[in-house]
Amino acid sequence: MSTNDQSPVHYDAVVIGAGFAGMYMLYKLRQLGLTARVYERGDDVGGTWYWNRYPGARCDVESLEYCYSFDPELEQEWEWTERYPGQPEILRYAQHVAERYDLYRDIQFNTMVTKAAFDDDTGQWQVSSAPAVNHIDHNHAPNDDDTDHVTAQYLITAVGCLSSSNVPDIAGVDTFQGEVCHTGRYPKEGIDFAGKRVGIIGTGSSGIQAIPVIAETADHLTVFQRTPQYAIPARNHPLDPAEQAEVKADYHRLREQNKTQQGALGARFDWNEGSVLDVEVEEAFKEFEARWEIGGFAFLGAYSDIARTPEANHVAADFVKQKIRETVQDPEVADRLIPTTYIGCKRLVLDTDYFKTFNRDNVTLVDISENVIDEITPDGVRLTDGTRYDLDVIVFATGYDAMTGSLLRINIQGRGGLPLAEQWYAGPRTYLGLGVPDFPNMFTITGPGSPSVLANMIVCIEQHVDWIGDCIDYMRANGHRHIEATEEATEAWVDHVNLVASYTLYPTCNSWYLGANIPGKTRVFMPLPGFPDYAEKCEQVAAAGYEGFALIPS
Ligand code: NAP
Repeated sequence: MSTNDQSPVHYDAVVIGAGFAGMYMLYKLRQLGLTARVYERGDDVGGTWYWNRYPGARCDVESLEYCYSFDPELEQEWEWTERYPGQPEILRYAQHVAERYDLYRDIQFNTMVTKAAFDDDTGQWQVSSAPAVNHIDHNHAPNDDDTDHVTAQYLITAVGCLSSSNVPDIAGVDTFQGEVCHTGRYPKEGIDFAGKRVGIIGTGSSGIQAIPVIAETADHLTVFQRTPQYAIPARNHPLDPAEQAEVKADYHRLREQNKTQQGALGARFDWNEGSVLDVEVEEAFKEFEARWEIGGFAFLGAYSDIARTPEANHVAADFVKQKIRETVQDPEVADRLIPTTYIGCKRLVLDTDYFKTFNRDNVTLVDISENVIDEITPDGVRLTDGTRYDLDVIVFATGYDAMTGSLLRINIQGRGGLPLAEQWYAGPRTYLGLGVPDFPNMFTITGPGSPSVLANMIVCIEQHVDWIGDCIDYMRANGHRHIEATEEATEAWVDHVNLVASYTLYPTCNSWYLGANIPGKTRVFMPLPGFPDYAEKCEQVAAAGYEGFALIPS
């Protein structure tokens, strides 16, 4: 609906993003009887799972746990086919949900929100949007000509934590004559790697999933690795119908049990409370071996102190290093693949045949930790020492400007025109990851300062959407027009997040959790470890009349 030559259309809420957060938020707003418009950059729902179509893309949370719980009928009717859902299946699930609840009619696709400004006079949000500009770096400036304007009482961001792709600023990238893509912006039509010389830059979760699959068809695959990563076998397999039926027979129980887990997942694993330092290394390795066979994050549940204590972490890391040495035939290549950081301080990767792939004749590992990529040329890549790699395709698996990038690329302005980028100049400051001082009636689903990426995203999304829905309901019932996080509560919350993170090994390496992967980004630990305590705190805040928020009457 164009509003260029008339007064803007008004909605109770504007939601930015039609991934799992935006879809459930829309459903919830409708339940409350509110009008809502959802803006989505892609041409369909699914968010992360719309964009990440790269070969091998698969979720690292099990299917039966990586799905909505808000409607028991939906839970029962959807049949997952594999232990871990692949991207196409998750996308089909998202589409099913959108159709089932008739969500499509309130979502405007191919549209990016370019600006959202709080109007001090009217107390409303003014939201501008424009046709989406598709570009691999996801951050391309939109064309201003076609801008549309609406107003809303609430601005709800559902932009995802890993949506703003990071394409490194390497000289010459625009001169490359072959095909270029980013895993998080993968072309819908796919890329045919057959008979081609492919280079992939980056060995995080995306790269490690894509590498074995691309290697199967490419003529040659060159892997440019800056930092080696720990990876644990996913052991994906077709889902046993009996297992699925068993979970569905008492789904509620699994959901409730998951909410008591730090990562809001994996309640069916055995999470050992003991310390690895209390057992002999042989016994510990036996336990790790058993979990290596099971596959998945069960590995980290072997002992409770792996994520907290350096000495404990070393034992688990040594086990994985041994596995890498056993798997990779060339000892020199194995050495280069062995990480030196704590295991788990970067997001642990679940893989399928990753290390084994380096035994293939058509795969070369290139260490670019010191001898960095100096230039991308029309024919390929040139390193600082002058070594050249001729390539037909370059795949950037270089990650994201995580957690804040997607919010800051929108020009969001709070009271008095305060840009969010200025409010967050020293790193993101939120209260509960849900509210920002000076940004009234703005809610950030899975925002920085909430567990989000350190936990099962779907559980986190549902918890946030339910909380926001209850909050709006409370405001309407009690005649409040605005809600806004206070400075004091926000200050205390940021300190709390840092304190909790400091009890773990997370802050010890250069991860995207800290913003360390983006040159110039302020280093602040952004997600909050520990779902159960966090969810309890949110409940307490609500029960105390939204303590830490200022509520302003109509
Ligand atoms: P990532 O973990 O940030 O990995 C990016 C990779 O690119 C790293 O190896 C990084 O090296 C490298 N890199 C970045 N900039 C570079 C540069 N200028 N030159 C050379 N190398 C560079 O990104 P990701 O693999 O896309 O994963 C991001 C997150 O998305 C994951 O941690 C996970 O939470 C999520 N994800 C999940 C799944 C799943 O569910 N299975 C799959 C994919 C992604 P450094 O390590 O040295 O920075």
